[in-house]
Amino acid sequence: MPIDEQDFQQYHLDTLAIRSGRLTTDEGAHGEPIFTTSSYVFDSAAQAAARFSGAEKGNIYSRFTNPTVRSFEQRLAALEGAERCVATSSGMAAILSTVMALLQSGDEVICSRSVFGTTNVLFEKYLHKFGVKTSFVNLTDLEEWKAAITGQTRMLFMETPSNPLCEVADIAQLAELAHANNALLVVDNCFCTPVLQQPLALGADISLHSATKFLDGQGRCIGGAVCGSDKLMEEVFGFLRSAGPTMSPFNAWVFLKGLETLSLRMQAHSANALRLADWLEQHPGVEKVYYAGLPSHPQHLLARTQQQAFGGVLSFRVKGGRAEAWKVIDSTRFLSITGNLGDTKTTITHPATTTHGRLSDDAKSKAGITENLIRVAVGLEHISDIKADLDLGLSGLANNRPD
Ligand SMILES: *Cc1c(COP(=O)(O)O)cnc(C)c1O
Repeated sequence: MPIDEQDFQQYHLDTLAIRSGRLTTDEGAHGEPIFTTSSYVFDSAAQAAARFSGAEKGNIYSRFTNPTVRSFEQRLAALEGAERCVATSSGMAAILSTVMALLQSGDEVICSRSVFGTTNVLFEKYLHKFGVKTSFVNLTDLEEWKAAITGQTRMLFMETPSNPLCEVADIAQLAELAHANNALLVVDNCFCTPVLQQPLALGADISLHSATKFLDGQGRCIGGAVCGSDKLMEEVFGFLRSAGPTMSPFNAWVFLKGLETLSLRMQAHSANALRLADWLEQHPGVEKVYYAGLPSHPQHLLARTQQQAFGGVLSFRVKGGRAEAWKVIDSTRFLSITGNLGDTKTTITHPATTTHGRLSDDAKSKAGITENLIRVAVGLEHISDIKADLDLGLSGLANNRPD
């Protein structure tokens, strides 16, 4: 007998990732179908009226109701332990939808300085225009978060581990701080995914995603998602219905299939990244490695309790400056020089001139984005080959003597 969506909660995450959010049709297809339709037909005028008024549940129009998208939403909600998920057209649309739905002019946001560069721009430049003011704090300094709180603070926003320096913040502690001050804690869970970290279980109000990264896992589609309580998600859904930053059914299908292998992939990404981090830390061409899986990492113990593993992204400073960093990047033969991450293909990037290039020099220096910093999103190629590719440029730096 088929299982109700609610009953799925008794199963393990690996099972939920494959079996929850079932999408069945009268055709008996085993693979999930993609519903490429903009609208839906009704049996009668009365049914149309009931659907539009909300009196009857069902599909209306694919800006806000589509079976393939809904299937992805249900599956991700099950993994995040959320009552509901709302899928969006991109990770940035997930952040924008959350803020537009839950904040108003005069409200204030406190945001970690170590967030995705575009998130920074969205808050500082665009949301500011509409009267939502943001102050930026050091992710790992609880006192700074506390000091930034005002009577208007309504949202705390952060990523953990952060991009690109892999700093880890205590989600439970920040959730407590937010709730004591009538504010929401929003966690961008892109780096860990629900396989490695479940922010809602730790007290966060919202866990959101750039599905573009690990949820897809093979660098094919742009998408995003917001997960949380029914009450909060109803607001986010209302914004999506009215403003239209909707996920396409095709992309939803890619992400839906991506979720089925997410657990295996996150374990493999994490295993490769840990081995690479260990190797880089010993390398004479490397000044410092940033990866929460290393015992040398300042929040290693916190990461061990808060996360199931340490994820696929690390960064390191080479000995030298921009020229040396670029040399290491340009010397690689198969690593992809691109800002994307969460792909089976290992990617390498120079944050100071790409993903974080739009930040002011001051913001860059406060966020620790130096010229000799390289970020690697470790893929699923053989670890020996990844090391060898990085060694092509790094070994040349090993003998550099400081002037
Ligand atoms: C990529 C990314 C985003 C933005 O997502 P898009 O899908 O590119 O819009 C937001 N947060 C983090 C941590 C990201 O890596």
